[in-house]
Amino acid sequence: MNEMTPAECESICDGCGRCCLHKLEDEETGDVHYTDVVCQYFDEKSCQCTEYQNRLVLVPQCVKLEVEDIDRFHWLPPSCSYKILHDTGDLPSWHPLLTNDVSSVFNAGISIRGRVISEKDVSEDDWEERIIYWVDE
Ligand code: SF4
Ligand code: SF4
Repeated sequence: MNEMTPAECESICDGCGRCCLHKLEDEETGDVHYTDVVCQYFDEKSCQCTEYQNRLVLVPQCVKLEVEDIDRFHWLPPSCSYKILHDTGDLPSWHPLLTNDVSSVFNAGISIRGRVISEKDVSEDDWEERIIYWVDE
């Protein structure tokens, strides 16, 4: 992966949107729990960031994924295509680069489309009650 061009690297993202979900970290164990609360700039229809160019300014916690740093991002979901490619050398079976079908991410149950709530619609105090476990975790 380290020899990829930036465009090739970006194409590894399958657009599942899971990294745009809010996560809670257990202070004692360090375990990361995913909620179904999604960043306000995530567009559920396209499964893309509506503020991609400005995202790091608008959302200070949003990070730029660099392939060489993938080991640092322990909080990425197990289904993340970067993680799977890094760990196995292969893309997951649902990846659009293999299926030639962008809906394969949704059909495989990996996409968050239709399964989340915007952070604008739920108080941060209630996030703990919105912890969910995705089927592949
Ligand atoms: S979890 Fe991985 S594959 Fe899914 S949107 Fe985030 S970076 Fe892309
Ligand atoms: S700013 Fe964009 S990329 Fe960052 S978490 Fe929000 S929707 Fe995702």
